[in-house]
Amino acid sequence: MLADYIIIGGGSAGCVLANRLSEDQNVSVVLLEAGGKDWNPLIHIPAGYIKTMVNPKINWMFKTEPEEVSGRREIAIPRGKVLGGSSSINSMIYIRGQAQDYNQWAQKGNSGWSYSDVLPYFKKSENCTIKSLLDLDDERPLQLRGKGGPLEVSAVRNTYPVLDTLIKAASSLGYPANLDHNGDKQDGFGYYQLTQKRGLRYSTRKAYLAPIKNRKNLKVLTSAFVEFIRFEDGEDGLPRAVGLTYSKNGQQLDVFANREVILSAGAIQSPQILELSGIGQSGRLSQLGIECIVNIKGVGENLADHYISRISWKLKNKELSINRMSRGVNLAKEVLR
Ligand SMILES: Cc1cc2nc3c(=O)[nH]c(=O)nc-3n(C[C@H](O)[C@H](O)[C@H](O)COP(=O)(O)OP(=O)(O)OC[C@H]3O[C@@H](n4cnc5c(N)ncnc54)[C@H](O)[C@@H]3O)c2cc1C
Repeated sequence: MLADYIIIGGGSAGCVLANRLSEDQNVSVVLLEAGGKDWNPLIHIPAGYIKTMVNPKINWMFKTEPEEVSGRREIAIPRGKVLGGSSSINSMIYIRGQAQDYNQWAQKGNSGWSYSDVLPYFKKSENCTIKSLLDLDDERPLQLRGKGGPLEVSAVRNTYPVLDTLIKAASSLGYPANLDHNGDKQDGFGYYQLTQKRGLRYSTRKAYLAPIKNRKNLKVLTSAFVEFIRFEDGEDGLPRAVGLTYSKNGQQLDVFANREVILSAGAIQSPQILELSGIGQSGRLSQLGIECIVNIKGVGENLADHYISRISWKLKNKELSINRMSRGVNLAKEVLR
């Protein structure tokens, strides 16, 4: 098989790239995703999130190595293994990166990455439907928020007295309330915004692949596990990615690229695929019997991730507790909802 662009991984990034590159009808694009289609209904119902955390059919179920700093425990690192990737199993919270972080990247010499550079793309990608923000007689929200983009961003559908009380309590202690964490400041207490439409998950598969499923110049292969990228020497003597080898239904197959091979297999597997293809630390690769094509120290190093630690309080007024909704008749009501 031959295509102009080959994209490895149909996750958050891969689905966007597949859509944008195939806008040009003269360009052919192949997207390879190791997981399957997102048919499991628990992907789409937000409460199904808990179940997707323990389902190896749609989650790679990685774990950290036991380390001193984690009390020698293995910590789960969930990652989506399905079209939409981790956007099909994540918590759907829509919070952009901090402006200061982007600005720091730009200051370090990465031109085009300051917040004012990336803001037009945030705006272009979203369809913000949060009435309380956009119905104000104030043009300011639209300077920062987008309307009409492919990714649905909505307000939480239910607010709870106990959470309203929490926001007020924070304010009384000097921590401001914030109605829009994607507005002009990020800190402060308030409700999340969600990548959901009418209460259902809006993954990048829904946002970027569903609307273009009839494009003839885009081929989406699911259950296609990329094994390694193929390199050849370019005219400048440096290795150039020309294609890849993947397996599907027990068969090993090749696909070649006229223009580019794009690696968007996520933070864990992109470096792994590079290493399997001979790009990484030569010592580590030779131990594994992999011929080193380019010796680069940083591949597979310096992963930074955040833990989730949940905080719980005992309430004096049990009527306010959200836990009570997960029991008895209240549970039935919640399931229906
Ligand atoms: C449980 C959880 C909760 C999260 N909650 C939030 C949240 O609320 N808000 C938020 O903004 N972010 C959240 N995130 C993070 C966010 O989802 C990720 O940062 C984002 O989806 C990463 O996008 P990506 O394209 O880099 O990778 P992914 O979306 O993970 O895509 C990588 C894709 O590559 C595929 N792949 C991997 N290896 C191969 C191979 N060898 N061959 C073929 N395909 C391959 C994978 O199956 C996957 O589909 C959460 C993530 C998780 C896991």
